[in-house]
Amino acid sequence: MKVLLMDLDITPRRRPFPNLGLMKLSAYHKAIGDEVYLNFPLKQADVIYASCIFTWNTWAKARVPDGAIVGGSGIDLKAQLHPEVEHIMPDYSLYPSVDFSLGFTSRGCIRRCPWCIVPEKEGWIKPWTRIDEFWDRRHRKITLLDNNLLAAPNWRQTMEDLLAEELEVDFNQGLDIRLVTAENVNYLKQMKTKQLRFAFDDIRYESALREGISLLLDAGIRSRKLFFYVLVGFDDDDTAVERMQILNSYNVDCYPMAYRSADGAKPARRIIKVPDIFWHGPRRNINKFLRLVGRLPE
Ligand code: SF4
Repeated sequence: MKVLLMDLDITPRRRPFPNLGLMKLSAYHKAIGDEVYLNFPLKQADVIYASCIFTWNTWAKARVPDGAIVGGSGIDLKAQLHPEVEHIMPDYSLYPSVDFSLGFTSRGCIRRCPWCIVPEKEGWIKPWTRIDEFWDRRHRKITLLDNNLLAAPNWRQTMEDLLAEELEVDFNQGLDIRLVTAENVNYLKQMKTKQLRFAFDDIRYESALREGISLLLDAGIRSRKLFFYVLVGFDDDDTAVERMQILNSYNVDCYPMAYRSADGAKPARRIIKVPDIFWHGPRRNINKFLRLVGRLPE
């Protein structure tokens, strides 16, 4: 049988982030003897899977051919892989330039942030698997896609597995700064990682953020190793500058994230007065923030 996998997030200008669902489908179909092709124009595929991860990638959805089985959070929040496929080792050969393994050790989240699709897509937090299930032993790096690892009942097991194998880890979806404790900081400070990613999306958790950052810094983790996503433009929130200033006072890196609605639309730009202070972090991130708050042209 000929199987066509369509990664709709791949464009001529975008270096693709590997699509985990398609890698698992590839592994499954190859295991049962099928021929698998990724984004290859086939006249007669027996089965077509089309997947799009990013909700803002609206134009990609128009490329889905009739009869394709669709999935990915950019298209269908409820689509799930069959358990036989979900728990298979991903076929990393589908993306030959990828030199890391990726997967989830937990799914879901304990929070209900109104801008986030995770609560609807994955529900309440639950353990999912151990790294062995998706770690290709040729890789020394792992990208974890857990949405709120520190809230997961199995977070200790995951950290212990990563430390035992001395793997470099990217907590790709960010860790919850509100859940940082002396115990998990003890794991985090031993972890091989270029950056520890967090988010500061809502000014109402300023005091928890300050406590979390203090615990990390007091443990000897350098401020420049801390990286914060900063949501800009959700609803009528006008605290982005204040949040950036608070983070700036700790000398941590910030990455502004423009809120996009489910139809992919960006928020309207509102001109916000930004004080002329010295902003830390890569210039491109600071310029992105200034563009989002209307201080630089798009
Ligand atoms: S904490 Fe993160 S994953 Fe959980 S609902 Fe909020 S934004 Fe989504």
